[in-house]
Amino acid sequence: MLKIGMSTPIVEMDGDEMTRVLWKLIKEELIEPFVDLKSEYYDLGLINRNETRDRVTVEAANAARKYGVAVKCATITPNKQRMKEYPQLTEMWKSPNATIRSILDGTVFRTPIMTSFIQPTVRTWESPITIARHAYGDVYKAAELVTDEPGECFLLFKGISGETKQLSVHNAKKGTIWLAQHNTDESIQSFARSCFEYAIALKQDLWFSAKDTISKKYDGRFKDIFDSEFESYKERFDALGIEYFYTLIDDAVARVVRSKGGFIWACKNYDGDVMSDMVSSAFGSLAMMTSVLVSPDGTYEYEAAHGTVTRHYYKYLKGERTSTNPIATIFAWSGALSKRGELDNLPELVDFAGKLEKASLDTLSDGTMTADLAMLAVSDAPIAPRTVDSWEFIGSIADRLK
Ligand code: NAP
Ligand code: MG
Repeated sequence: MLKIGMSTPIVEMDGDEMTRVLWKLIKEELIEPFVDLKSEYYDLGLINRNETRDRVTVEAANAARKYGVAVKCATITPNKQRMKEYPQLTEMWKSPNATIRSILDGTVFRTPIMTSFIQPTVRTWESPITIARHAYGDVYKAAELVTDEPGECFLLFKGISGETKQLSVHNAKKGTIWLAQHNTDESIQSFARSCFEYAIALKQDLWFSAKDTISKKYDGRFKDIFDSEFESYKERFDALGIEYFYTLIDDAVARVVRSKGGFIWACKNYDGDVMSDMVSSAFGSLAMMTSVLVSPDGTYEYEAAHGTVTRHYYKYLKGERTSTNPIATIFAWSGALSKRGELDNLPELVDFAGKLEKASLDTLSDGTMTADLAMLAVSDAPIAPRTVDSWEFIGSIADRLK
């Protein structure tokens, strides 16, 4: 069989645990037999991040910047428990996603993949809800401090002009925890712009939520920047009959649950982290959520929204063939291949990416699925679900593709 050619490499970021196992399988079974894959490989697995003192993550992000398209496998963000699990770790390395996001800036858009046999938990949802997560700053770039004696904590800014600004945070009596977070006008502006652009591309309404009633300066700034950026998009929104509005985060949550879906919900970094898990679970499964980081300079990094599926990995290590859902990781690859094809003017590659997605969804519609989806399948589905392991599932998709 003649393989589809590529001209520019995709930046490939390998990862950890069960998703690393699936990653290899997806490449071998679903991509390499059909595409003469050009990729620049970076091993973002925890062991290699530790060995390179996390340099590999920075190099991978820079490569993504250089080539414009990357695909990333889920990775472990070490915590205390992981430090025990991997005694060779010399540091509690930062989340690779946070490192990459801070280098690329930009916005993460997450959209659930809907299928006919899974009904969203929220009965009114008819179309996917895309969550736009701001990808820079706030609690992910915060300075934290623990103190255990009485004393006063200040927020001190020293301008290069020599001007200083100082604010008392709190007068502590006993043990206290402190956190200082920041964001930048520039990052919020590009967040706003990518959201408006993406809303226009999808022809969908854009919602933005924050808590400016409590955080008048910090969240208030987000709201003001969105308002002022919107000025230059308003005409295009009007022409398309779509709308932008701001609302408080708690009001947004209530409205989302009563909505029919089919819009983009722009969230601050932490809200987006939490809400995307809520929305994806309510749409069916975290394993059915696609994710793409779009930077203001037009770099696209595709990944699955879920993590490394640790629980399944430990079963796999014991020799079990787990039924882990590879769909979101497959769609990360198809997204990257399609974007690469679009940028390099390779219609065959774009076409292949579409066929890969269709083969995956057709396999599901035929009733062949992983355990997480079989559990969710509606009782009146036209075909009774047949639960298979990941190997068999990917094999079925490969057969269809062939
Ligand atoms: P997770 O890997 O997303 O898994 C949580 C649970 O969700 C799984 O145990 C499984 O439930 C279900 N699940 C998730 N993806 C699935 C799939 N593809 N197929 C079937 N079931 C799936 O989250 P976690 O256990 O909280 O985190 C594990 C590691 O992933 C952590 O070290 C974390 O740092 C990392 N992480 C990485 C990223 C990223 O790189 N983007 C994102 C999130 C987390 P059952 O066990 O009930 O089957
Ligand atoms: Mg998360």
